[in-house]
Amino acid sequence: MNLLRRIFDRLRRNKGTPPTTDIVLDSTSPELEGDWYVEADTCMSCGAPPIQAPDLMGLRDRCYFHKQPSSEAEVERACKAAETSCCDAIRYRGSDERVRSRIRTD
Ligand code: SF4
Repeated sequence: MNLLRRIFDRLRRNKGTPPTTDIVLDSTSPELEGDWYVEADTCMSCGAPPIQAPDLMGLRDRCYFHKQPSSEAEVERACKAAETSCCDAIRYRGSDERVRSRIRTD
C-alpha cells in the first residue's frame, strides 16, 4: 500500500484534483468485457489507473475494468486513468472518435 500511497500523493500534486483511495482490491472479479480493456502481461503493479477511476477500475494481478464507462464523466475519468497508466496498457476498441484520438486502440 505504500506504493499506492506514493502514487496517490503524486497524482494529487500533479493533477490538482484529489483522487479517492477507494480502490477496489479484488481477488475474484475478472475484467468486464467491453470497449475499454487493459492489455495483459504488461503490469508493473503501479496501481495508478484505479486510483484515478475507482468507480470503473479495480486492481488484481493488474488493473482492470469492473465497469465500462457510459456517461461523459465516466469516459473522461477512464481517459485520465489511461493517461496515468505507467505501462500504457489501457486500450479502447470502441468507435467514439474523441476517445480514439486520446487512447491507444491497437
Ligand atoms: S497501468 Fe499497467 S502497471 Fe499499472 S496497474 Fe495497470 S497494468 Fe499494472
